[in-house]
Amino acid sequence: MKIGFIGLGNMGAPMAKNLLKAGHTLSVFDLSAQVVQEMVDAGAKATESPKAAATDVECVITMLPAPGHVRNVLTAENGVLAGISKDVIIIDSSTIDPASAREFSKIAAQHGNLFVDAPVSGGTGGAAAGTLTFMVGCGDEAYAKIKPVLQSMGKSIVHCGDTGTGQAAKICNNLLLGISMAALSEAMALGEALGIDPKVLGGIINSSTGRCWSSETYNPMPGVIESAPSSRGYGGGFGTDLMLKDLALATDAAKTVRQPAFLGALAQQLYQMLSANGDGRLDFSSVITLYRNHGNT
Ligand code: NAD
Repeated sequence: MKIGFIGLGNMGAPMAKNLLKAGHTLSVFDLSAQVVQEMVDAGAKATESPKAAATDVECVITMLPAPGHVRNVLTAENGVLAGISKDVIIIDSSTIDPASAREFSKIAAQHGNLFVDAPVSGGTGGAAAGTLTFMVGCGDEAYAKIKPVLQSMGKSIVHCGDTGTGQAAKICNNLLLGISMAALSEAMALGEALGIDPKVLGGIINSSTGRCWSSETYNPMPGVIESAPSSRGYGGGFGTDLMLKDLALATDAAKTVRQPAFLGALAQQLYQMLSANGDGRLDFSSVITLYRNHGNT
């Protein structure tokens, strides 16, 4: 299939590479010339704008930071909707809010296009391995059409319901992830201060009731899990500013349905402090530095 792919960052680049491996043809666009060159080396065709990437393709995929970027890429003069043919499906895998996804779906429908929200979970490791979970919000017909494309990038493809429900699932999951990473950081830093070896504590948590995804695969204490961002200076992975954005999306969405989000609001403040300290680009597991460094600041 001919696919236009826009947004080749930590997640988009490995996802696009898996599409190439599966035999799809890619026209790509990103603001960073470096990541575009990397994709060209892998076999993709570089384009000059989202409009050009969306021209003469059968499907468009966007993997961008936040709702504003998706709006701009879709609706700008040189945007996707200016280049796309009728009936081509737009799959947005960025994490945005359900209300924006519904609005973009309406805008796309005015151009004769279907817009599907299909955010992902599984991190950069899952993106590289092609084992992501996709949470898909759209009608049955669109779902049947896009499922094979998503299967080239993910292992678990879940049809959550109509437009916006994929994003609802995603922000609820990340609300929990942001809270659980902060909670694990609190526990690991306390254990260190109390004199227990972090590797021993990490192992005990993983065979006890505190076990979670963060403790098993992404422990925030350096040296506990060699493959985790914490063991490489918190580089790559899932940026603190992106987690901050997701917690804001979740707490804002909670307001719209008058639902309390006590712990989410608290966790949001922790990541906000990290970001204000200038560490917004570090992986979100660096939230542990707020606990480990507090005596020195
Ligand atoms: P990233 O910041 O690494 O990449 C975003 C890319 O979008 C960058 O290459 C940037 O240059 C590009 N971009 C921004 N504005 C653009 C524009 N107008 N036109 C073209 N390209 C533009 O982010 P990421 O980690 O790849 O995350 C992307 C999305 O996936 C986010 O919504 C994030 O919340 C979500 N997500 C990330 C992870 C993760 O572990 N990193 C996991 C699940 C979901």
